[in-house]
Amino acid sequence: MGDPKAFLTIGRKEAGYRPVQQRKYDFAEVELTFNDEDCHLQASRCMDCGVPFCHWNCPLGNRQPEWQDAVYKGNWREAYRILQETDDFPEFTGRVCPALCEKGCVLALSANAAVTIRNNEAAIIEKAFSEGYVTACPPRTRTGKRVAVIGSGPAGLACANQLNRKGHTVDVFEKDERIGGLLRLGIPDFKLNKGVIDRRLKLLEQEGISFVCNTPVGDDKKALSDMLGKYDAVCVAIGSGQPRDLQVEGRDLKGVYFALELLKQQNRLVAGDSVEPEQLISAKGKRVLVIGGGDTGSDCVGTSIRQGATSVLQIEIMPKPPVDKNPETPWPNYPRILKTSTSHQEGCERRWSLDTVRFIGKNGVLKQVEVAPVTWQTGEDGRMVPRRAAQTELLDVDLVFLAMGFVHPVYEGLVENLGVELDARHNVRVDADNRTSVPKVFAAGDASYGAGLVVRAIASGRKAAAAIDDYLSNLEK
Ligand SMILES: Cc1cc2nc3c(=O)[nH]c(=O)nc-3n(C[C@H](O)[C@H](O)[C@H](O)COP(=O)(O)OP(=O)(O)OC[C@H]3O[C@@H](n4cnc5c(N)ncnc54)[C@H](O)[C@@H]3O)c2cc1C
Ligand code: SF4
Repeated sequence: MGDPKAFLTIGRKEAGYRPVQQRKYDFAEVELTFNDEDCHLQASRCMDCGVPFCHWNCPLGNRQPEWQDAVYKGNWREAYRILQETDDFPEFTGRVCPALCEKGCVLALSANAAVTIRNNEAAIIEKAFSEGYVTACPPRTRTGKRVAVIGSGPAGLACANQLNRKGHTVDVFEKDERIGGLLRLGIPDFKLNKGVIDRRLKLLEQEGISFVCNTPVGDDKKALSDMLGKYDAVCVAIGSGQPRDLQVEGRDLKGVYFALELLKQQNRLVAGDSVEPEQLISAKGKRVLVIGGGDTGSDCVGTSIRQGATSVLQIEIMPKPPVDKNPETPWPNYPRILKTSTSHQEGCERRWSLDTVRFIGKNGVLKQVEVAPVTWQTGEDGRMVPRRAAQTELLDVDLVFLAMGFVHPVYEGLVENLGVELDARHNVRVDADNRTSVPKVFAAGDASYGAGLVVRAIASGRKAAAAIDDYLSNLEK
């Protein structure tokens, strides 16, 4: 702990964002990176608490007080060394993590001004890249064991990275044309610039991991059986790809899309792909309605604004959360309070407690959406149920994006043909060691616990890798 009184004299500061009027016309990253001085000052605020709840709150167990101290002392290489021990990809978490750590910071409780952790994490890894501390470190020896990782999102990449470091030979299979999962094709460039993924992939390849794109594993039963024969272990990290649908009248009208139809296409356009005019989903000059108040919905808001929507409305069936504090989620838990994203700040109306009754069209094209206010009441089984008001409202809209979450992994192909058991929440069932019900097959990430966060997926991939390494070591005995 560098300066024991800094938290009394120095205020919390964040790296900040590009001005709205500048950023809403492009897809470049909206968030800025700290300079060294700001990093140093913010690091000095860390009190090195006896029980660091920031560390406890981070699914990766990042050792924030230790690397903050190194930053305070100007020892960037040491800060990077500590950070990379627990986090395979700080350049991803430093950009898109909701900073569960900061919500558990003691200064968040006592002064409502947590130590700035996520921005410092991003600054450390960017400094490490620019100073050349991050270099490829291939394993010195190979174990001769082969592992197939299916799915190249953060869970698959973390699992592959950890196993490769142990000397196992790892092949990552991806059904899409590009590596990265939702980092690549879900999260927009304005939150995570894709050059950041490419920079990491280059290192992973230099370290010996091989990536095989355009390969939907499991569609072909014979190829799947060959894979199980060829590899000593398999990790299923296919994400939670089945979006929640809204089966109401008019769902098949032109103009109603799943959120990821928009986001994937936009990510591909930014990457330089072209789209046939009849396939193009564009909000330019359109009135957009986003159904679903979460992060995916917020990404649709930011994307629609950048495409030139005339208006963007985001609706949510749940009531508006408390603005500041929520007694249901006391410190050090992640607070369920109103979240206003950078996309919301760019010009979007938000409404809560609204249910969608039907989509109304003309000649097969969406024109209006009928919505009804709801009140939430406790049902007979104790669960909260929405009650629709009789009075409904018609919204004039041209485009609707359904962003109501994801229900489970896609079953067709891999999950069905592998025959892995599912759990009560319809995800791939795993035990405490991430083993599925099929011998030598493990699972990690959203596929095994439902749609989550990048930081959780990395943590899950690391955990599965440790279990697979243990399994492979025992094979040798
Ligand atoms: C729009 C959006 C924005 C988000 N924003 C954030 C954010 O800001 N911060 C945050 O922390 N989290 C965010 N998330 C959540 C986060 O992206 C996910 O929790 C995380 O990516 C899950 O990682 P994963 O590796 O388990 O799965 P995924 O990232 O979903 O990767 C799974 C991969 O497996 C591939 N695959 C599927 N089936 C097969 C098959 N049969 N064969 C080969 N490959 C297959 C898929 O194509 C995909 O590439 C967001 C999610 C979405 C949808
Ligand atoms: S990964 Fe997320 S929770 Fe963990 S230290 Fe970084 S910002 Fe905090």
